[in-house]
Amino acid sequence: MGSQDKNKFNQNTTATLEQPKSAPLLGLSLEELTSWVVAQDQPSYRGKQLYDWIYHKGARSLNEISVFSKQWRATVADFPIGRSTIDLRSQASDGTVKYLLKLADGQIIETVGIPTDKRLTVCVSSQVGCAMACDFCATGKGGFLRNLAPHEIIDQVLTVQADFQRRVSHIVFMGMGEPLLNTDNVLKALKSLNQDVGIGQRCMTVSTVGIRDRIRKFAQHQLQVTLAVSLHASNQALREQLIPSANNYPLKDLLTECREYVEITGRRVSFEYVLLAGVNDSPEQAVELAQLLRGFQCHVNLIPYNPIAEADYKRPSPNAIHAFVSTLTQHQVAVSVRYSRGLDANAACGQLRSARV
Ligand code: SAH
Repeated sequence: MGSQDKNKFNQNTTATLEQPKSAPLLGLSLEELTSWVVAQDQPSYRGKQLYDWIYHKGARSLNEISVFSKQWRATVADFPIGRSTIDLRSQASDGTVKYLLKLADGQIIETVGIPTDKRLTVCVSSQVGCAMACDFCATGKGGFLRNLAPHEIIDQVLTVQADFQRRVSHIVFMGMGEPLLNTDNVLKALKSLNQDVGIGQRCMTVSTVGIRDRIRKFAQHQLQVTLAVSLHASNQALREQLIPSANNYPLKDLLTECREYVEITGRRVSFEYVLLAGVNDSPEQAVELAQLLRGFQCHVNLIPYNPIAEADYKRPSPNAIHAFVSTLTQHQVAVSVRYSRGLDANAACGQLRSARV
């Protein structure tokens, strides 16, 4: 899996800007940064300073780290920390902010900051584009370009934190891309976001459409993050209509892997279900979904469809949504409705496509 992921990264990188001369420092642990400064003939305590400036003070270049001597700063100024630049920032009326971030090679990704009284959640991208091509999702319509490196994932969180001037409390991998097709880099980013940026594992959610064998492998890392699985259908035939990759990964196998995830990690799985009017929102389908999930330790998150230009699905009426919820509840399925925030900035689930709006 690892080497395949790396190959994808290499093959699909389209360099449009000059590439940095060395690997970015963001993503390195305290020990690794300390080794790095020592290799630069600096005293080892500089490692902790560098670490604090990168992860806690938001340094964007070594040149701005004022505790370092001017002379040394001048010699290392070209070593990249690995931060993106904000290409566009658009704020929705509910306070949600969507960012288009420009990466070192000129590619653009999207990140969303979602504030509430108690939380600041960042919706991060794991890839530039997405290969899954789900029929109702804007990201999938644009195709896949490349995987994100660990520092490009961590950077998204630091960028939102700096812009809001507020600590990020939660992270959801629900931006562009399929995290389990970039598992190695996502795992590295999760580790650093937890240990270096200081975000609790239980406050992180990785959302996947389900890739054969990868939920099982992900479980083996024994993380305390929440796994969200995009189900969207109560039977195999309908799922295949909506999600092309479902063709070679039957629901039965997906659910078996999800059960293993619960057994291995002791964590509940949540299932996401985009509600599409007249497609998957009937009371009969709610019953079928409840039967499919019978005896499963899980939670169903219903996401009323957010309109995108490339598809002509409709969001169900409030009555239809209510009826779907009631049927699931009657069948003892734990359910909530997630009304996406940021709709008027095209920042809601499924609307991310790196377009200027
Ligand atoms: N590749 C991951 C992350 C995708 S985005 C996955 O498939 O889970 C997070 C969620 O938004 C997914 O459940 C996705 O299916 C959903 N989504 C995509 N397009 C949407 C739309 N137009 N309206 C509502 N939710 C959408």
